[in-house]
Amino acid sequence: MLRTTPLVDGHNDLPWRIREDTLHSNDLEAYSLTVRAPGMTDLPRMKQGMVGAQFWSVYEPGEPDASTYKRNGKVTGTPGYARVQLEQIELAKRMIAKYPRDLVLATTEADVRKAFREGRIGSLLGMEGGHAIENSLEALRAYYDLGARYMTLTHNVTLDWADAALDSAVHHGLTPFGREVVREMNRMGMLVDLAHVSPAVMSNALDVSEAPVIFSHSASRELVNHPRNVPDSILRRVPKNGGVVMVPFVVSFVNRAVKAYEDSLAAEEKVLKARTCRLEATASAPRRNALRRRRPHRARTSCRWRRSRRHRKRSRWHHHHYRRTRGRFEVSDAAGRAGEARLDRSGPS
Ligand SMILES: [Zn+2]
Repeated sequence: MLRTTPLVDGHNDLPWRIREDTLHSNDLEAYSLTVRAPGMTDLPRMKQGMVGAQFWSVYEPGEPDASTYKRNGKVTGTPGYARVQLEQIELAKRMIAKYPRDLVLATTEADVRKAFREGRIGSLLGMEGGHAIENSLEALRAYYDLGARYMTLTHNVTLDWADAALDSAVHHGLTPFGREVVREMNRMGMLVDLAHVSPAVMSNALDVSEAPVIFSHSASRELVNHPRNVPDSILRRVPKNGGVVMVPFVVSFVNRAVKAYEDSLAAEEKVLKARTCRLEATASAPRRNALRRRRPHRARTSCRWRRSRRHRKRSRWHHHHYRRTRGRFEVSDAAGRAGEARLDRSGPS
C-alpha cells in the first residue's frame, strides 16, 4: 500500500536537532543524513520506513527565556522569535536542497504526488508555535510565502491569543485575533495544527475553520490522560471537519505506565525545586552561594525561573499542592482550583 499511496509524516523535529547538535551545532555538512545519524532521522531509515512525504518542523521554543534567545559570542543582538523562525526555515530548506535525489521542497499536494512518483520524499514545512508571528498577520503571510504550510497555533506557552495545553488557560480558547489567525490560514491554504493547544482552543478552531484541521502529533486523551492528547469530545467533531489526528511516537503520549512514571519524576523535581528555592530565600548571601554551588544540576533547579516576570505574574499559581487521583497527576492552587501539571520536557515534542 505504501508503494502506491504516499504516507505523510506530520512532524519531524530534525531541523531543530541539527541546530542544537552538541558537537556541530547548525552544521549541515557535519550532520550527514546519508549515513546513520545521531538523531532519530536519516535517509536510510526514512526509506526503510517508506515515508512518502514529510512535514519538517521548523520548531522554535515559545519560552522567551530559552537559551536560543540569549546572547552568544557570535551575535551582538538578542535573537527574537521571528529571527529564529527565519533561521529554521532557511536551515530546513538548505537541508532539503542538500539531498536532491531523496528530498524535494513541496508546497502543494501536486508537489507531494509528483515527488512520490519520482521516488523522492516531498518535503513540506510546518511551523511549530504561533509565537513566531509575533501577533502579526503580515508575518503569518510572509511565512506562508516562504513555504510554511501548517502552523501549530501554540507550542507549550500560552500566547496573547491562544491557550497552550501545557500552560495556564488565560483566554479559555481563542481570542478574536486568534480566530482571525485561523481565518487567514484558511484563506491562504495553510493547515491549522491543533497539537499543543488547549481543548478550548481546539473547540474554537473547529468552530471557525472552514478547512480540515490537523493534529500533527497528538494521541487520544481517553487512552492516555496526557494534556497534549485530544479529548473524545473533540475527536468526535474531527470526522465532520475532515481533519486528521496523527499519533506520534512520543511514548508518554501513548503509554499509560510511561506517563505515570514521567509524572512521578516531574512531581519529585517540583518538590526539590521548591525546597531549594525556600532554602535559598531564607539563607544568608554566602550560604546561598554555597547552596547554589553544591547543586549538581544548577540550571534545572535554579530559583531564577520563579523570579522571571512571567512567573512572578503567576506566582499565585505556584502555591499549589499535588495530589494523585486515579493515576492522573493534578495540580491545584491554595483555593483548590484544578490545573494541569506542567511537565518539564527536554525536547520540543
Ligand atoms: Zn511539539
